[in-house]
Amino acid sequence: MRVVQIPTLFDNYTYLLICEKTGQTAIVDSPDAEATLAVIRREGVDPVAIFSTHHHMDHVGGNEELIAFKKMPVYGGLNDRQRIPCLTHPVEEGDQISLGSLIFRVMDIPGHTRGHIAYVGEGAVFCGDTLFAGGCGRLFEGSAEQMVFSLGKLKNLPNPTAVYCGHEYTQKNLEFALTLEPDNQSLQTKYAEVVDLRKKSKPTVPTTIGEEKSYNPFLRTESPELITNLKKKIPGLKDDRLSVFVAVRKMKDGF
Ligand code: ZN
Ligand code: FE
Repeated sequence: MRVVQIPTLFDNYTYLLICEKTGQTAIVDSPDAEATLAVIRREGVDPVAIFSTHHHMDHVGGNEELIAFKKMPVYGGLNDRQRIPCLTHPVEEGDQISLGSLIFRVMDIPGHTRGHIAYVGEGAVFCGDTLFAGGCGRLFEGSAEQMVFSLGKLKNLPNPTAVYCGHEYTQKNLEFALTLEPDNQSLQTKYAEVVDLRKKSKPTVPTTIGEEKSYNPFLRTESPELITNLKKKIPGLKDDRLSVFVAVRKMKDGF
């Protein structure tokens, strides 16, 4: 698989997943069809499917125009089937999708929206607005329990799995993370790297599951340093994973 990353809108990412044997290509989350088609032409690849992660317009806004350009199947979560434009293939946990010689598996990851899914395969996960580099999505429709469960599933992927998320939010996310774990060495190192990349206007995505586990506060709800610092801000906070997650999410919403 070759992945081409396309920055769109203000801070969104569209991805082209290309089967190098056949040139067959899936488009993950395109809000801007023009920008996506320009890259498809430049790469000389053959778009054969759209993989939508969730129904928000900054992820599916280009579906109609892409379908007008070329008719192709549109995949998306079963629970989003009313809301994803041009959806033809509602999918859910465990469904498999082949793309040339590549195979992807669908993972249900509700929380940000109730129909959010991830596409997992070829050593990568395309997780939309659920897991971000250094952060996680806001809880627009799902419960904290759902989000914790979904993040737990992503966390269980093999450490080298490349994390391709929907937005370039990493620097701000890590600035928040530093307020909770200022002494976390891998967080400090990652933050320095990210600041440097952003100065050069380079993407900080993808990261890996292994890296995320080392600095992402939403995957570190059992970290003693994080819990200790959180308790300084919120005296009497219970330290079970759910209570810690809820507190961290709430704090990030106001950061
Ligand atoms: Zn979203
Ligand atoms: Fe988004």
